[in-house]
Amino acid sequence: MSDLSNSADLHNLRSWIDAPAGSDFPIQNIPFGICSSGTRPPRPCTRIGNRVIDLRALAEADLLNGLGIDPGVFSAPVLNPLMAHGKAGIRRLRRHLIELFREDNDFLRDRKRVVEEAVMPVDEVTMHLPVEVGDYTDFYSSREHATNVGTMFRGAENALMPNWLHLPVGYHGRASSVVISGTAIQRPMGQMRPNADEPPVFGPSKQLDIELETAFITFQGKPLGQRITTEEAEDHIFGMVLFNDWSARDIQSWEYVPLGPFLGKNFGSSMSPWIVTLDALEPFRTNGPAQDPEPLPYLRTRGPGSFDIRLEASIIPKNGLETTICHTNFKYLYWTMAQQLAHHTVNGCNVRAGDVMASGTISGPDAGSFGSLLELTWRGTKPLTLADGSQRKFLEDGDTVVIQGHCERDDLHIGFGEVRGEILPAG
Ligand code: MN
Repeated sequence: MSDLSNSADLHNLRSWIDAPAGSDFPIQNIPFGICSSGTRPPRPCTRIGNRVIDLRALAEADLLNGLGIDPGVFSAPVLNPLMAHGKAGIRRLRRHLIELFREDNDFLRDRKRVVEEAVMPVDEVTMHLPVEVGDYTDFYSSREHATNVGTMFRGAENALMPNWLHLPVGYHGRASSVVISGTAIQRPMGQMRPNADEPPVFGPSKQLDIELETAFITFQGKPLGQRITTEEAEDHIFGMVLFNDWSARDIQSWEYVPLGPFLGKNFGSSMSPWIVTLDALEPFRTNGPAQDPEPLPYLRTRGPGSFDIRLEASIIPKNGLETTICHTNFKYLYWTMAQQLAHHTVNGCNVRAGDVMASGTISGPDAGSFGSLLELTWRGTKPLTLADGSQRKFLEDGDTVVIQGHCERDDLHIGFGEVRGEILPAG
């Protein structure tokens, strides 16, 4: 089969499963996730339009043979065993699925019993965390975000720390609290010091925030001690998800010196259910911002290393109207995923299948493109007015936050769906 990412046929490709115009999941996407339904335990799946396709059912009907993929991986409750087949294996599987479901192929379409078993309406399934997350790393790769936060906390003159333009700053987060979209997030309790002239206090966070991010999921990397170069990096990336890295600013600002984020971050991070492959995103590859000064040789890359992914966040108060609070784009990020992964492993640190590497808050150049309430309300000094007339400095109990993302060019639309979470009162 030809390389669809470079084919003029790509735009015209249609499936015999209908995908409504503007759907995030046309046949050109073929993302991967984990679903369950009724008596079916969690298993790998993909999606076209509003239909979820059970890969275990396809494997049991002998429709996923000859791909060099152990059929047992399609019965696993996470994608990690499938991911052991690496970029080449996932690429063969994806192209095979596109073949099976393309409009001009009646091989599967006419096998009604298999189709009935394998193809389900999306509202009849439950989606689960798609991978067993081994480690979670969070970068800080938006220059606009780092500048905004630095300006608020240190003044405009010292906004960017001296290292920022030379390396992708990051920290090790907490894998155990990465949760699937739809999981409610309890407002964290913690220690904070709201008044610098008085001792610290304990209580529920009063500055609960979102961080609009994406994340990439890695394949098995190299053994401990071996680095992944920028040229090799994308071969170690399975795909991308939307990511809300919930943050308690008051806990964070008191605790972070000198070792960085801790309890202000690790009470929950929400992930969208569909892993969109870099192959699916290829038509939207673009340049990120020019990098000046030129990075050290181990961080240099050739060709465009970013993707044009439109992102937005909204707040829905309890029983209230939805208000979009931010429009931004993945392409604003200064450091690319390849640079992040090369930097992460340059000291010999080993990454494993299912590791989550988040981008850091994605802010753009103008005020409507900031990816956190901290920036949107400028540390609470400029409250947002929502569609129902209520105001927000930070999140309130009962607020639901939804982050969505998609790519669009000519007639081709590839999306991620959404990541959603509601804030519950502190316990
Ligand atoms: Mn973050």
